[in-house]
Amino acid sequence: MKVSVIGSGPNGLAAAVVMARAGHDVTVYEGSDKAGGGLRTDDFTEFDGRFDVCSAVHPMALASTFFRAFDLGSRIPFVQSDISFAHALPGRAAVAYQDLERTSSELGRTGPAWSAIMKPLLRQIDAVRAMSGLELRPHPSTVAGALALGVAAMGFSALRDEARALAAGVVAHGAAPFSSIAARFVGAVLAAEGHAAGWPIPVGGSGAIADALVKDIQAHGGRVELGRTVADLREVWSPGDTAMFDTGPRGFADIALNALPARYESALRSYRYGNAASKVDFVLSGPIPWTDERLRDALTVHLGGWEREVSGAERAALRGAVPERPYVLLSQPTRRDRTRLPPGSTDEIVWAYAHVPNGSTEDAAERIIDRIESFAPGFRDLIVHRESRPAPFFAQLNPNFHGGDILGGRVDVPQLLTRPTKSVRSWRTPIPGVYLCSAATPPGAGVHGMAGWHAARLALARVGQGVPDLGPVARAD
Ligand SMILES: Cc1cc2nc3c(=O)[nH]c(=O)nc-3n(C[C@H](O)[C@H](O)[C@H](O)COP(=O)(O)OP(=O)(O)OC[C@H]3O[C@@H](n4cnc5c(N)ncnc54)[C@H](O)[C@@H]3O)c2cc1C
Repeated sequence: MKVSVIGSGPNGLAAAVVMARAGHDVTVYEGSDKAGGGLRTDDFTEFDGRFDVCSAVHPMALASTFFRAFDLGSRIPFVQSDISFAHALPGRAAVAYQDLERTSSELGRTGPAWSAIMKPLLRQIDAVRAMSGLELRPHPSTVAGALALGVAAMGFSALRDEARALAAGVVAHGAAPFSSIAARFVGAVLAAEGHAAGWPIPVGGSGAIADALVKDIQAHGGRVELGRTVADLREVWSPGDTAMFDTGPRGFADIALNALPARYESALRSYRYGNAASKVDFVLSGPIPWTDERLRDALTVHLGGWEREVSGAERAALRGAVPERPYVLLSQPTRRDRTRLPPGSTDEIVWAYAHVPNGSTEDAAERIIDRIESFAPGFRDLIVHRESRPAPFFAQLNPNFHGGDILGGRVDVPQLLTRPTKSVRSWRTPIPGVYLCSAATPPGAGVHGMAGWHAARLALARVGQGVPDLGPVARAD
């Protein structure tokens, strides 16, 4: 069967891996000059060093069903710290270690409540992973996973002080305030992985994940064509073929314009986007001088103060205002991975972004610097190089990041389980053999490959095939 995959983000590449492994004739068409979409590591302009343009930290890369079947952890090296993620607070921090007991003990009197929420999730981690990957089976484990996540999402309300701030920081990955039920589901999964697989980073940068996927596709006869933007369905698909679109709903509606029923097309066009990101990449002359020294070892730090402040910043962005004191997501990869800098360098690379309103053109760099400075006095003096990437940069880099929304669509209850249309098999389109597989389909944003895996599973079922073995032992090379 001829299979075209349009877009080479983690989901497109996952779909291509599965289809190539199943023996089909696969071509991936990518509009950009590099494969990987949100998996992209570039050289700094006018500075020696490499940085992650988009995704940096990978809680799902060792945990999702697709990546576990692909055995990504045995193909490329990852590093992580004892600390999965931390949340900077005035004069101190709340820290989530991979070790739950230590987390609870250092959270002090707020620790037992954190543990009480995490323990049931960890006991059911396989069911939680299946549920978060939307592997909905008529099986008790599906119910167990859904129940554990639901209880955790509700249980977050009972958290106080440090534990509540820790939870608010991880919930805000969904670009929403702490009250958002949909973002709480996202936060509960990410927090549980913090105590399960951890929050690792790939040695050399996220581009290494894309390279491993492309290598596998090519080893199984597939091709990846770069600099090839698909504008019309007929360029890549004829009846009887399969096409899998790792594109946003509106992008797909434009490409398949004349082949879509009006109602479906209108549903695609009414898909909603959320907060955008304004990002800065720094080179520092040394490690960030955190007030709480434990943060020196954390690869991921959330900055936003107490829960009310985090939620206030996220609400402001959703209302259309750039928050004065934004919630900032920060990664300091070179605390563990020195391959990103020239040998002998003592510099540090830092990746940080804040949420801003969708479509905002404002460069939040100064606000981000002020925010870091407030938890790490002296930070500003260490900056030797910086590159700003406001929301329009992301919108231009990748049409899926509409208005700079790096999650590829707003995270709320209506769009959590059934995106971009109200269907339990959102990966299918009304055109036989044509599928959507981007982060605008379940299970949404992040580097997990599961939307691609689901689309490929449906495409294979259509021709009576199951998902093949994806492990490295079956490789052709
Ligand atoms: C700044 C930033 C930070 C992030 N941090 C993290 C993180 O730390 N951890 C994490 O898990 N996730 C993170 N994410 C989110 C993650 O990168 C995305 O959720 C993920 O990449 C989505 O994957 P995807 O396969 O849906 O498509 P994408 O990665 O969006 O890739 C889609 C690809 O399709 C191509 N394309 C689109 N239309 C066409 C067309 N018509 N023809 C040809 N090609 C086309 C695009 O050029 C792009 O390469 C981050 C994203 C950004 C931008």
